[in-house]
Amino acid sequence: MLNNYITADLFNCQQFTLKSIDFNEEESSALLTYISQEKTSAARCPDCGGRAYVQSRNTCDLKDMPVFYGITQTIRAEIHRYQCRVCGRVFTEDLGMLRHPGTRITKRAAMWLRGLLQFHIPISAISRFTGIRWNTISRIHREYMEEKLEQRATELREKKYKPRYLAVDEFAVHKGHTYATCVMDLEEGDVLWVGKGRSKEDFRKFFEEYDLSLLSEVKAVAMDMNASYHILVEKHLPQARIVYDRYHMQAQFGKDVLGSVRLEEAKAHQARSHEYQDALLREADPAKRKETKAAAREELHTYSAIKSSRWNLLMSGRKLKGSKAESLKQILSDHSRLALCYAMKEEMSELFELDDPDIAEERWTAWFNAAKASHIPQLVKFAELKEKRLEGLISHAVYPISTGKLEGFNNKIKVAKRIGYGFRNDDYFFTLIKYLSLPSVRRRFHTFC
Ligand SMILES: [Zn+2]
Repeated sequence: MLNNYITADLFNCQQFTLKSIDFNEEESSALLTYISQEKTSAARCPDCGGRAYVQSRNTCDLKDMPVFYGITQTIRAEIHRYQCRVCGRVFTEDLGMLRHPGTRITKRAAMWLRGLLQFHIPISAISRFTGIRWNTISRIHREYMEEKLEQRATELREKKYKPRYLAVDEFAVHKGHTYATCVMDLEEGDVLWVGKGRSKEDFRKFFEEYDLSLLSEVKAVAMDMNASYHILVEKHLPQARIVYDRYHMQAQFGKDVLGSVRLEEAKAHQARSHEYQDALLREADPAKRKETKAAAREELHTYSAIKSSRWNLLMSGRKLKGSKAESLKQILSDHSRLALCYAMKEEMSELFELDDPDIAEERWTAWFNAAKASHIPQLVKFAELKEKRLEGLISHAVYPISTGKLEGFNNKIKVAKRIGYGFRNDDYFFTLIKYLSLPSVRRRFHTFC
């Protein structure tokens, strides 16, 4: 029988011979029992090296990989329990090559799992397919990933490689209830560190856990202005420049300034429309009624036009064409506050294109002054807050880096969640994220996403 042949062949080099094969149709499982032929004279006490005698027989069950589709397979080894003739110690026969250390699965099953896991198949699926416990599979996975991460670290050490540009950012774990912080080497793309939480205290662990001598060449670190990561970077990497991420900055402007002013303007039209409708109830003159009705409708129309202008306002003016551009132009010409905020947004994008720090300083300062003189509370507040971080905005002209690459890595984090679906072990999850960032894995990864 094929099953017999494959398995017997594997174990022939050892002390085992096949005793029986039992199929359990109800459970769709196979049990292959092997009996040890080890000679008692070959057994030696692990303590004193003395000869031993057989005290009893023991069985040890190890999950194997399925040889037939849909049938989980267990290898049962009948082994000896010996007692030392010299010191009296009782010991069990060594399973040798049969068992993967620290688990209850065969060594070849472990090899097979390592192969499967490279294809990013969810652990729960492998568990159902093989009958091997989730924890065991994740353990094999983790061993494998740690091995690969260690290989990569050695490779970089041998090349005397040191990262020059880093990005630090947070991402959501467990459907957004908890967060983790991630540090990436922007040139090589390796995730250097992942830690729980997103506060300054959480980020401090990076500097405690990571080998700081490897960071001596860091020239610049990209980050979101809102987190207080910069304080720690300034302390631990004094030679590095902090670069505030343009995408975070632009997104915040879009939400806190443009979005807020847009809603205010829209609501003003809605309120006026309501006023006209109230007046309509009191109005008896048919001509005036018609006029008021039209005015109310007009206000409501403008209200919805502004409400739906969100994406057009956020998009770069150069990219907007046709009726969308016309509609936006109309809104902006009728609403000077919104027009001003929009112009400030367009100007800000240009500031992030500058590559001369002196010009950048001059123009950012002018931008902040214009914003503060605008009398638009949202814009004034934004400017007052961001002006304190002028240095990190100017740095962008010297080192035009961003956290964008790290953001792009979010897709891989989603895959990581899928692979380890249902786990609550952060260390394992974080190892998985680092592993997925390895260049060799990234190359293979593209074929799966
Ligand atoms: Zn002994």
